[in-house]
Amino acid sequence: MDITSVGIVGAGQMGNGIAHVFALAGYDVLLNDISEDSLTKALITIEKNLDRQVGRGKISAEDRAGALARVRTTLKLSDIGATDLVIEAATEREPVKQAIFDDLMPHLKPTTILTSNTSSISITRLASRTDRPEKFMGLHFMNPVPVMQLVELIRGIATDQDTWETMHAVVRRLGKTAASAEDFPAFIVNRILIPMINEAVYTLYEGVGNVKSIDESMKLGANHPMGPLELADFIGLDTCLAIMNVLYDGLADTKYRPCPLLTKYVEAGWLGRKTQRGFYDYRGEVPVPTR
Ligand code: NAD
Repeated sequence: MDITSVGIVGAGQMGNGIAHVFALAGYDVLLNDISEDSLTKALITIEKNLDRQVGRGKISAEDRAGALARVRTTLKLSDIGATDLVIEAATEREPVKQAIFDDLMPHLKPTTILTSNTSSISITRLASRTDRPEKFMGLHFMNPVPVMQLVELIRGIATDQDTWETMHAVVRRLGKTAASAEDFPAFIVNRILIPMINEAVYTLYEGVGNVKSIDESMKLGANHPMGPLELADFIGLDTCLAIMNVLYDGLADTKYRPCPLLTKYVEAGWLGRKTQRGFYDYRGEVPVPTR
């Protein structure tokens, strides 16, 4: 199927990045949010990030102008119904996503493909409550969207081959690379990455190493660009804990139990960079380990 227009629901951190890459690839983008403030901030962020790409010589001034001209915003969810592809990137709460698909359904064209950028909610379950489970799949972008190369394509139980192939072609047109994943908790990247981070927190909890030695070990010994604790602060410790709980509950295996020290940091409100404190303290000139 030929996709020319894209409706994005949710204009937060992920939604604005997704709008950015689709507009740059020549798609007409309609961005929706319940908050006018989010829509305004999203447009400012898109413009700033496009400017940065021009500054680095990655895109031309014409590419920037073309992309900006292709992004429109709306507070009316029903406007999204006229697009060929819907990408739901709203708050990670199942009732929120459910209500969006329910409200959207009467306004959709019969051919419109529905996708969700969820990191943890079952694609099969979201799909089963729509009128088109065969045209529904997971489209999981990584943060920050304009920078990260990978997109996970998640097949629900009912997703048909045409939908998968259409979305595979869309990801290619974005200049990104698709990895195909089945619909099981946390898909591929988070299924591997977050337990590794959790294990790094256990290593700290048990006193095997301190923050500095753990991060340095993984950077210099495993060639990771960031240490696991530094990365946890970047992702957000609340997000890491939520994903561990999804794995623990969804796979019913004790090997996914969240480290008590991770829970303790979240209880303290030390969630990483976004609260200025996590495994590092970011309030000074340079990050200082908190343990
Ligand atoms: P965010 O909090 O930055 O943005 C969510 C946006 O959704 C907000 O602007 C909010 O106003 C809007 N929203 C809430 N209810 C809505 C509704 N009914 N209709 C329209 N808009 C609504 O969140 P985010 O980090 O951008 O995450 C969005 C989705 O992307 C989640 O499903 C999350 O799991 C997934 N995701 C996040 C990351 C990440 O690193 N942040 C990575 C991959 C996937």
